[in-house]
Amino acid sequence: MHPELIKPVKKVRGGVKVPHSKNTKDMPVNRLPAPETVYLPMNQHIGAPCEPVVKVGDTVKVGQLIGDSDKYVCAPIHASVSGKVSAIKELRTATGVVSKTVIIENDGEMTEFDGIEPPKIDTREEFIQAVRQSGLVGLGGAGFPTHVKLNFKQDAGIDTLIINAAECEPYITVDYRECVDNSWHVFNGIHLVKDMLGFKKVIIAVEDNKPEAIKILERIAEKNDDRDEIKVMPLKSKYPQGAEKMMVLSATGRKVPPGKLPADVGCVVMNVASAAFIARFVRTGRPLVSRSLTVDGSAVANPQNVRVPVGTEIEYIIQKCGGYSEEPVKIVTGGPMMGAAIVDTHRPILKSNNAILVLGKEDISVKKQTDCIRCGRCAKACPLSLMPTIIEKYAKAKDYSALKAAGTMVCMECGSCAYSCPAGRPLVQYMRNAKAVLREEAGK
Ligand code: SF4
Ligand code: SF4
Repeated sequence: MHPELIKPVKKVRGGVKVPHSKNTKDMPVNRLPAPETVYLPMNQHIGAPCEPVVKVGDTVKVGQLIGDSDKYVCAPIHASVSGKVSAIKELRTATGVVSKTVIIENDGEMTEFDGIEPPKIDTREEFIQAVRQSGLVGLGGAGFPTHVKLNFKQDAGIDTLIINAAECEPYITVDYRECVDNSWHVFNGIHLVKDMLGFKKVIIAVEDNKPEAIKILERIAEKNDDRDEIKVMPLKSKYPQGAEKMMVLSATGRKVPPGKLPADVGCVVMNVASAAFIARFVRTGRPLVSRSLTVDGSAVANPQNVRVPVGTEIEYIIQKCGGYSEEPVKIVTGGPMMGAAIVDTHRPILKSNNAILVLGKEDISVKKQTDCIRCGRCAKACPLSLMPTIIEKYAKAKDYSALKAAGTMVCMECGSCAYSCPAGRPLVQYMRNAKAVLREEAGK
């Protein structure tokens, strides 16, 4: 191992080996032509939805603010094409959430909003305010407003920034392409966050199935003046290595207690594409109006990495990738392990979506469900040491105190248990049901 690379501090228990299927890894991101219409839901992030600040008939330009809120946990939304607001109405997103949606008819000009200019940043507060103005949410799929994550108290003992470039879900390669194609943006973003917020240490965590990305990042890290403070850490390729709690443990040896956040053990985890975006935003002032996605799966004709305006219909993207090569068995936004299955492709891409998987027969093996054989593989695979079969029993019995004591609410629905079950039992569904039982009890 090169001296600049550091080893994981602690081995993470559980997890599963999944086929990587990184078929698009050698494909740089292809910018697709903008569609005729974009659909921009006001609810694209974790937290309070935005309210439209435009009305039907308004002319808007790319990057113009179209939705905002005075609630703290929220990220503003900007027009992703120039044109006319043709409607504002309640529509369902791909995952079934009903959200007020601003619909813009593209005038084909992609005219940039006149007010776009690099933000003035001299202080920590101005930096956090600029991140809010950019509309950035976690680009790795979580969708949590980034300004909230970064707005910790200076005396909170937070010393380590972990850049998540693990990309442990099969198929998805857009973070890999960010590392390979835009490595200087990644480093500029890291330096901005590190210097503005006073992190003492930065760890760039990459799974070891991406040697090219590790090589490029490490080469840049080595040239930096602060080379002792920014290190590249190859992690064993194992799902869900990219989950925040797993990553904090591997990278620092600090264990995030149940119900707590990485910040509670002195860490902030940020997706690698989010870091690169911050660098671009600070240089140009252009907010988050487009995003990169991996389009893959055996049922799409031309798998590739694409960049599209936020709010582009999923069906439009699939058609631009050659359409369907066979009847899809399942279409998913995100990865096959934690992504959401969708039923209607005439729904828009959101800021947090990093993939569209058009899965065919070749991609999906359906195990016949049989009785539990008590092999214990589900418990062994769980990175959080949960016991899904016991939790299922408690849920059926509505034994609330036992469900709480078993750590039910900690489950991150990663699917490692179900993946490893030889009896094909829908364990993630059981865990979701168990959480619903506890929520129901809490709401009484
Ligand atoms: S889905 Fe929940 S119970 Fe299953 S492995 Fe993941 S965290 Fe553990
Ligand atoms: S892995 Fe499946 S068969 Fe084995 S104990 Fe768990 S639920 Fe039962």
